[in-house]
Amino acid sequence: MADFGRIQFEGVEGIRTGWKDHITSSFVNYRIDDTLIDCGPLRQWQYVKPFMAEKSIRQVLITHFHEDHTGNVRHIRDEFDVLASGHENTCRQLKKGFSISVLEKVFWGSTPKITIQPFPEQIVLNDGSEVVPVHVPGHCHDMQCFFVPDKGYMFTGDLYIASAIKFLHEKENLGQQIDDIKNILNYDFQTMFCPHRGVVEDGKQALNRKLEYLLELCGNAQHLSGKGMSVKEVTNQLLGPDSLAAYLTRFNFSKRGLIKGCLDVQL
Ligand SMILES: [Zn+2]
Repeated sequence: MADFGRIQFEGVEGIRTGWKDHITSSFVNYRIDDTLIDCGPLRQWQYVKPFMAEKSIRQVLITHFHEDHTGNVRHIRDEFDVLASGHENTCRQLKKGFSISVLEKVFWGSTPKITIQPFPEQIVLNDGSEVVPVHVPGHCHDMQCFFVPDKGYMFTGDLYIASAIKFLHEKENLGQQIDDIKNILNYDFQTMFCPHRGVVEDGKQALNRKLEYLLELCGNAQHLSGKGMSVKEVTNQLLGPDSLAAYLTRFNFSKRGLIKGCLDVQL
């Protein structure tokens, strides 16, 4: 575990923490004035806490319930007296609690059960700019992107990560994710803030590249499958073979999962 340093873009500050300085092994907490976006994983609290303590935080907005985004919700409530807010599905999920794999427990840590509050009717930053939550349920049922029209910002939760993803979790819905990306591309933004990738200054173009990549992958996968190839064969041809990690997790998060998802998408 380590602090991989700060991120600064215009008025947005970030801190990247995690196991490795890599997109899937680390997490960026973003702060604009007195607003924090997501809470970071529980195991990174020792680094997130001093970052939090630098400025007084008025509101914490949650993109979705996953443990890397919500692990410190309770710490922030108990030590900084700020109760996070989220979509009603996020509130329900965090109140009920959720289980994660042993690997995820070691890696990020579990989010403790907690009651958070629903988003207020209007979310505003310190300077009066409005924050508009947009529901994008393809990654998980509660996920939100946060659009800041005055600044051309889009906080994308786990919608982006990379233009050319290679893996899909079995709980993700690829067809819905493609619809989510199309939906977000309708908004007038330039800069994308991804909690794994970091700040993407040509955000709209990057998200558009992801859409094109996914549509092409779906087309190719469906074409090969139509010729009688198995999912494993299509995966090997388009993405290369799955690693040992995919076998160990019983293909929960795998290349094969992404190809399966591609075969279910209606083009
Ligand atoms: Zn997630």
